Amino acid sequence: MTGLFPFFKNFVPLNDKEMSKLRFDVVQEAFRKRAVTVETPSTSPSGYFGELVFNRDKMHKYLDAKTFKALVNCIDNGEHLDRETANGVAAGMKVWAMEHGVTHVTHWFQPLTEGTAEKHDSFMEYDGKGGMIEEFDGKALAQQEPDASSFPSGGIRATFEARGYTAWDPTSPVFIQDDTLCIPTVFISYTGEALDYKTPLKKALKAVNDAALPICRLFDSKVKKVYSYLGWEQEYFLVDEDLYAARPDLMQTGRTLMGHASSKNQQLDDHYFGAIPSRVMAFMRDIEIAGYKLGIPIKTRHNEVAPNQFELAPIFGETNLANDQNQLIMNVMNSVARKHGFVVLLHEKPFDGINGSGKHNNWSLGTDTGTLLLAPGKDAKGNLQFVTFFVNILAAVQKHNAVLKASIASATNAHRLGANEAPPAIVSAFLGKTMTDVLHKLLEVPSDTPIEIAGKKGTSVGLVEIPEIFVDNTDRNRTSPFAFTGNRFEFRAVGSSANCAGAMTTLNAAVAEQLIEFKAAVDKELAAGKKLNVAIMDTLKPIIASIIDVVCFDGNGYSSEWPIEAKKRGLDVEISVPEMFKSFTTPESVAMFTKLGIYSEKELEARNEVKWEIYSKKVQIEARITGRMAINHIIPAALAYQTKLLENVKLMKEIYPDEYKAKCEVELGIISRISDLISDIRTKVDAMIEARKVANKIENEYEKAVAYHEIADSLFAIRKPIDKLEEVVDNDMWPLPKYRELLFIN
Ligand code: ADP
Ligand code: MG
Repeated sequence: MTGLFPFFKNFVPLNDKEMSKLRFDVVQEAFRKRAVTVETPSTSPSGYFGELVFNRDKMHKYLDAKTFKALVNCIDNGEHLDRETANGVAAGMKVWAMEHGVTHVTHWFQPLTEGTAEKHDSFMEYDGKGGMIEEFDGKALAQQEPDASSFPSGGIRATFEARGYTAWDPTSPVFIQDDTLCIPTVFISYTGEALDYKTPLKKALKAVNDAALPICRLFDSKVKKVYSYLGWEQEYFLVDEDLYAARPDLMQTGRTLMGHASSKNQQLDDHYFGAIPSRVMAFMRDIEIAGYKLGIPIKTRHNEVAPNQFELAPIFGETNLANDQNQLIMNVMNSVARKHGFVVLLHEKPFDGINGSGKHNNWSLGTDTGTLLLAPGKDAKGNLQFVTFFVNILAAVQKHNAVLKASIASATNAHRLGANEAPPAIVSAFLGKTMTDVLHKLLEVPSDTPIEIAGKKGTSVGLVEIPEIFVDNTDRNRTSPFAFTGNRFEFRAVGSSANCAGAMTTLNAAVAEQLIEFKAAVDKELAAGKKLNVAIMDTLKPIIASIIDVVCFDGNGYSSEWPIEAKKRGLDVEISVPEMFKSFTTPESVAMFTKLGIYSEKELEARNEVKWEIYSKKVQIEARITGRMAINHIIPAALAYQTKLLENVKLMKEIYPDEYKAKCEVELGIISRISDLISDIRTKVDAMIEARKVANKIENEYEKAVAYHEIADSLFAIRKPIDKLEEVVDNDMWPLPKYRELLFIN
């Protein structure tokens, strides 16, 4: 029995009848037995939402009035928190945490590697009387010094100066995971440079608030704060954990490095929004329960386009918090999946030939007075405010299109970028017909023409009108990486495994810079005595004229003409990821990031070093695994089958010495085909190993990444003969689970 499925660790022995079935059916049968029942909480979700989060309710309950006030003031207004308050907060948190059986505490941070990092310390301390006591004070809450030497720093901090520290981010609530109190923190080097994703994000959010606020105040003097909002849509694949365990490539790189397309994949379009398989449904419900307890407002779940691909999306929220929640849910998904016998694949392209996974970042700005700045307003003034932000955002995206692309680029997302699937490797913006028409109209009319909601003032030829029902009524363009969808822009290029902070820092920074320039220009017009709406429109018009035929593109982003056209328009069309990273250190990017106080030039350079290094290492790992699987798995299986055929031919020869060649024509053909494919694989693997040796000797991280970029391409060439062999070799002798097994097991 074991010969048939050597890779199943828990395989249920099959009887003869089952044995005679197709391999595919057998696999399905075995896995159907794995459904897990979900323990449903006794109350409805609103009853346990935020149960494991130290939110306002908990603050109210566990902190005294003075501490509560000081903490809220710190969260809402950025006021400094003194040591005494921190002690008070820590004491309250400890009581709450211990009621939930918590014994440990960790600073939870987002280093430049993927995912999050944590180092747990127990509450236990000596009590000075020979016993032990649980302790947790303001110092432990506010700051920790993990050994930072093993985290990437791009050379900011030499290994001998290993000190970096984590510092509490009070704007993101503390939460409990299992027996541990988790404190969201920033991670900074001893010399003050950011070593994480959160620090620059928070700086960019402050910058966009500082830049947008004076503009909002032109329209409404009561506005005190401008928020950046993020609504992420997390796409992912599920595979059965036993099949996963039998694929070294999936286990170590998160994607399949070989595998022939299954006969049926997504061509029938029958998976998107299809009925959710019951085993997956149980997993999703478990995620939602865990997410609600952690205060994550999960809203949407559905099947995605590719088989075994799904999506999860919450209600949008403030960007820093929403990003923490995304990081958190990715962790939760990984652990909950195991309970259901699944593994979650967050890689952007786990399977060749079918869609990959993204993480659309729905993004907008809004005020503390409840105005969404990317939706039409109630009146002409509100509409002018909307158009003001709308146009300036487009101008920001145009100016910084290259670095925005760099902000979503990675070794893994490279497989989606430009691969005829969202997104094309060019950052342009889709406005839809309505807003395109509005912008054209604005260029034609006098600057004091009010922008009305359609129908309110009757129809008049001269009027600039926006339809009343707008949200969800805007047309969609799935090929655009930055699409306007009625009350927000959807930055669709972000990869499924990415930390959204990379993209969100860059986007908010670009917008902040543009808004500052815009405000200065408007101030000049106002100083010249113009009325506010005329001053604004006079400033907007040249901007509109400069973007409408450049960054704005409503056509097919996948067409072969688009890169040619985009290049003419002056948009960045670079497709190599190591090259893209260079956009971070162009004079325009350095000026933007330094002026806004988000990154110093040194930090930008250091972060690029890290990006190149991670890029090279990821490709290096993929290259090693491809080579080893080719030599240790694939070629031996092919040789075994070939030997079987040769034995057959040998026997045929004994029986039919004169006719065996004619009789064995097919076998001889396969034997020779296998030899050809094996030798093709061997030659290509040898060349790849040589290329790696050369690349490994390169010291400069950028040059090394460029060399590895070529190696990444060669991996596609290696998988081709391997995938052909999969079609030739006896099914029972193939050593890896095939796509049709990985992708259709529920
Ligand atoms: P789609 O139809 O694009 O797949 P989904 O419903 O899956 O849309 O996800 C849309 C996401 O956009 C949700 O997270 C939603 O909360 C978020 N969203 C809606 N409005 C805004 C907004 N104004 N700003 C930011 N995010 C928003
Ligand atoms: Mg969606």
